Amino acid sequence: MERITIFDTTLRDGEQSPGCSMNVPEKLRMAHQLDRLGVDVIEAGFPIASEGDFAAVQAIAAVVRRPIIAGLARACSKDIERAWQALQGAARPRIHVFLATSDIHLKYKLRISRQQCLEQAIEAIRLAKSLCDDVEFSPEDATRTDPDFLCQVVEAVVAAGATTVNIPDTVGYTTPVEFGELICLIRENVHGIENVTISAHCHDDLGLAVANSLAAIAAGARQVECTINGIGERAGNASLEEIVMAMRVRPDRLAYETEIVSEELFPASQMLSEITGVAVQPNKAIIGRNAFAHEAGIHQDGMLKNPLTYEIMTPQSVGVPDSKLVLGKHSGRHALGLRCEQLGHQFDRHQLDEVYRHFVVLADQIKHVEDVHLLELISAIEKDRAVAADDRAQVKSIPLDVPAFAAARPDSGHGHSKLLRTMSVSSGAGLASFPLNPMAEHHNDQEDYLWGV
Ligand SMILES: [Zn+2]
Repeated sequence: MERITIFDTTLRDGEQSPGCSMNVPEKLRMAHQLDRLGVDVIEAGFPIASEGDFAAVQAIAAVVRRPIIAGLARACSKDIERAWQALQGAARPRIHVFLATSDIHLKYKLRISRQQCLEQAIEAIRLAKSLCDDVEFSPEDATRTDPDFLCQVVEAVVAAGATTVNIPDTVGYTTPVEFGELICLIRENVHGIENVTISAHCHDDLGLAVANSLAAIAAGARQVECTINGIGERAGNASLEEIVMAMRVRPDRLAYETEIVSEELFPASQMLSEITGVAVQPNKAIIGRNAFAHEAGIHQDGMLKNPLTYEIMTPQSVGVPDSKLVLGKHSGRHALGLRCEQLGHQFDRHQLDEVYRHFVVLADQIKHVEDVHLLELISAIEKDRAVAADDRAQVKSIPLDVPAFAAARPDSGHGHSKLLRTMSVSSGAGLASFPLNPMAEHHNDQEDYLWGV
């Protein structure tokens, strides 16, 4: 099986979509999840774009050590130098340089000639290469670029030292057969192309981003650029979970492998929509709320007789929590911790203790703690913690890094639990209003045993 490099751009292209901007702690939290998910490359941001983007790339580069960390730069020295500065602490840095090549972009946006474009691309790649071994080049709007000129630019950047050449369908205009042919054309006509990785970057304006990405792979691309939940500019980018699961479910047709830990797909999706406050459409493939729901009688009948009748993959294979595992007051920390992870929350022992104490109180009052209750509980605890941190900061008069959850949008809560609201968990009164169960005070290992892990 051929190995495909998964280049995740949730934190860069994804973040550029309306309502999806993330602050530094939020990006850092997401980057850790992308690491657990097993992506090969994390495009962490566009360092010249803002101080926040610079800080996010720097912070991620410092602590996320396994994947390659990429920083985006326009084809000019100040962008490239800034990107390199942000990537200083990275174990495996990559500079990703882009420059538009289509006549429409050259004429109206950049106001340069093809010759100037070619020279600028070469110069930019030489500079990037002098700083970093791993250099990616993207001819923006490649699918509307004159194919001969595209090949000329690609050949020039390969000669100048680019190690990955990404072919972006920036405006989501191409179709699968056409895009596959373009990748073949580049492979057949560009001298030296066999020494670099060809990548695809597709947008979903016509709903073809995933199909186009798979067509590019079939034509020889060995890296795909994609995002969690398919977020991204306008209609979004190719969805990571759809590309990966298409390969997993149909190896007979798509004989490629990735390093993705598919059980982390749902947690990653949940975490992203919680951070951004942008919900996933219910019928979204792989990770939507209804992706594994069967309502029609005939389907339910078939599912009960044998899930294979209507299920091409199991919910568990993509990390959707097992609904048969009910969380109630007899659940232990282990089950609670697992469900929290599936919902996109990784807690250390101490944090889980805190969630557990409040969970026990809640479970005493309602029989089954549903996912929405748990998410609301976690959010209330985190807000409470952020307020406490804020108070401490004010006392000391020292500016403090705002924790990820403090900046959560007010509309991002899972506010449909009337029950919890009446308990004033999310009313702003904080957790002081929670009556603490005496049992909950015993938060040691013994308790795990008592509560039946
Ligand atoms: Zn894009």
